[in-house]
Amino acid sequence: MIFGGHVSIAGGLEKAIGRGEKEGFEVIQTFASSPRSFTVTNYTNDQITAFNQAMKASRVVKQLFFHGIYLLNLASSKEYLVNLSVKSLVEYLNFGAKINCTGTIFHVGSSKEQSFDEVKNQVAQAIKKVLETTPKDQLLIIESAAGAGNVIGNSLDELAQLFNQVDSTRLKVCLDTQHLWASGVNVADKAIFGNWLKQFDQQIGIQNLVCMHANDSKTEFNSKRDRHENIGQGLIGRAGFQNILSQSVLKNIPFIMEVPGIKGEGPDRENLKILHNLSL
Ligand SMILES: [Zn+2]
Ligand SMILES: [Zn+2]
Repeated sequence: MIFGGHVSIAGGLEKAIGRGEKEGFEVIQTFASSPRSFTVTNYTNDQITAFNQAMKASRVVKQLFFHGIYLLNLASSKEYLVNLSVKSLVEYLNFGAKINCTGTIFHVGSSKEQSFDEVKNQVAQAIKKVLETTPKDQLLIIESAAGAGNVIGNSLDELAQLFNQVDSTRLKVCLDTQHLWASGVNVADKAIFGNWLKQFDQQIGIQNLVCMHANDSKTEFNSKRDRHENIGQGLIGRAGFQNILSQSVLKNIPFIMEVPGIKGEGPDRENLKILHNLSL
């Protein structure tokens, strides 16, 4: 199986590859700019070349995903915020094409007091706008949400409706084990999660699942709260992860950790080892 984790780009984009290599990650996820700002980072051609060379030379890191910034909200009632979100995603996908990124994983956002039905068209239109103006090799990947405050994407029905409406082979899904757990999907139970994945296949199509976020949970089942824990140290637990990793449809899907880390410095070799051992 393919395992990796989120790594920082502090000190330069190409540093992300070295960090991934140090931890033994075959797949890495990074931000392309500060996640708490709409300001884009402009990379020089030299920086892009350096990154591409480092990636090509790496014997460890084979695949790169971007994670969109935290401020994105395609479901907001504030038009300027939706426009800024679209712009940010377009910039991420344009830049991703220059460095052989697979795609950008993002949270659709929260509709606050509005219902899903009220914002569905707006969200679908925004997604279409991003896809229409960006390179064809870049995927736009919706991450399943934990479920608090009317966030979009915490149920299969909502996701399926968005998929139908956007109708693009470039729109994909990332499932986060902690978010599923917090939104009331018992990923730790082999039969229950197996059935849920079958339903996912029927409603959205398993070919549209392009990556998993592998995170244990600090918060209890169905808590609607997004709190990640190290693999095996949370309420999903080792046995739970063993069950997740044994789902046959997930065998070829990259698992990307966003865990606090043993030393509190983010995803690390120790967590990777636990994940790997539980997959055997
Ligand atoms: Zn995640
Ligand atoms: Zn999360």
